[in-house]
Amino acid sequence: MKPALAPAATLVGMPNRYWLETLGCPKNQVDSEKLAGLLEADGYQPSRHPGQADLLVVNTCAFIEAAREESVEAVLQLGASKKPGARLVVTGCMAQRYGEELALALPEVDQVAGFGVPVQLARKPVPAAARAPARLPSFDLLNLPRPAAQAPWAYVKVAEGCDRHCGFCAIPQFRGPQRSRSLEAVVAEVDALGAQEVVLVAQDPVSWGRDRRFNPGEIGAPGSGGPRAPGEGGGLAHLVKVVRQHTQRVRLLYLYPSGLSDRLIDAMAESGCSYFDMSLQHVSGRLLRSMRRFGDAERFAQLVAKIRQRYPEAALRSSFVVGYPGETEEDHDQLLAFLSEAQLDWAGFFGFSPEEGTYAAQLADQVPAALVSEWISECSELQGSITAERRGALVGTVCRALVDRPGQARSHREAPEIDGLIKVPRHIPVGTWVDLKITKADGLDLVARELQPAVAPTPTPQAPCAPDGTVAA
Ligand code: SF4
Repeated sequence: MKPALAPAATLVGMPNRYWLETLGCPKNQVDSEKLAGLLEADGYQPSRHPGQADLLVVNTCAFIEAAREESVEAVLQLGASKKPGARLVVTGCMAQRYGEELALALPEVDQVAGFGVPVQLARKPVPAAARAPARLPSFDLLNLPRPAAQAPWAYVKVAEGCDRHCGFCAIPQFRGPQRSRSLEAVVAEVDALGAQEVVLVAQDPVSWGRDRRFNPGEIGAPGSGGPRAPGEGGGLAHLVKVVRQHTQRVRLLYLYPSGLSDRLIDAMAESGCSYFDMSLQHVSGRLLRSMRRFGDAERFAQLVAKIRQRYPEAALRSSFVVGYPGETEEDHDQLLAFLSEAQLDWAGFFGFSPEEGTYAAQLADQVPAALVSEWISECSELQGSITAERRGALVGTVCRALVDRPGQARSHREAPEIDGLIKVPRHIPVGTWVDLKITKADGLDLVARELQPAVAPTPTPQAPCAPDGTVAA
């Protein structure tokens, strides 16, 4: 179902400038680009300043309390700056989950549009749907068009929703069950974007295709008899290989660890981006069972060792929930020990937030906030020193990188907007693949000089960093 947007150019006095504010994760960013594509297809143009826009849209995040506060703050700020007659629309996860409360609490908002509600310009009071309890989306933004990539890289969402039921997570409640896009649709979007690096995202990417009766990593993969249906390819490993034929670097984020099969690991590394963002969340087996998740410290250590053994140049990232109900000092020590041993390149730590309607919210043994802060500090400090050491060890090596913007590049080790970056001479054109020698570490960033004149763009996206000053083939 296409959201209803009246053609701006055909109605006298109709708004024709929009301002779109996005909060939250890369998945939300993709939704915003889809919304922008939709608005532009209907004749709207982006506004340079919110105060000049006729339509202001806030794409909110409802992941945790802090994200919700940030979203509300953005709504209030835009509400204060909107010009007379402009419309302010709130969409995204908060609108989906707390539509009724938002509509009542924010009089400056003209419409609260959950995922299944068209963004409209009609005057208040619009949000009859918003006053209804949160419901599952009646349409997805997934297959809507979006503008061509503005940067040399772009996120592409391969599925919406999630079939897992992690104890701390409310996302399946309002994003609904997983709906995977077809391989054809993903490839068509990659082609239309024209980006040199594509970052594939979803709530649970390793399950891509499962709802289409494909078995990730198996059906549709080379040697398995081919895709089951024309244009379809089962399994994330197969998806990575196919997408790689349409862009020069394919990166994956948010990989549920049990889905990191040998086949997927190989597909990622062989496609030219040995970057593994493992969604571990903790390492205490007891706590992970309570989170209704897979794994323990031993299994995760084996996974890390296996990846590094096969692909020594691999970069590893993970995120962890700190202060899940029932977490003890012993669990926390286990996490610290794992961090010391695993020597991940990057890691993020998030304080547990009791989300309404989740299994964990009603668990006893909630951890005091002060203790959660203390534990986060300890984890961050330890990981900070590990990351700094690992970045420092790259000085003197060479790598191939994509210049994202003037003076800034990324190799396979740095995901856009998440990790550090590589500072390069500003004269290298944006969109260029360049071979670099790392000369210095600067906090989380690296400083590099180019090894050879830049050629835009080179067909080979990434060669692993080598310690001897050569770029491995
Ligand atoms: S995998 Fe777990 S944490 Fe991730 S979106 Fe699904 S339920 Fe939430």
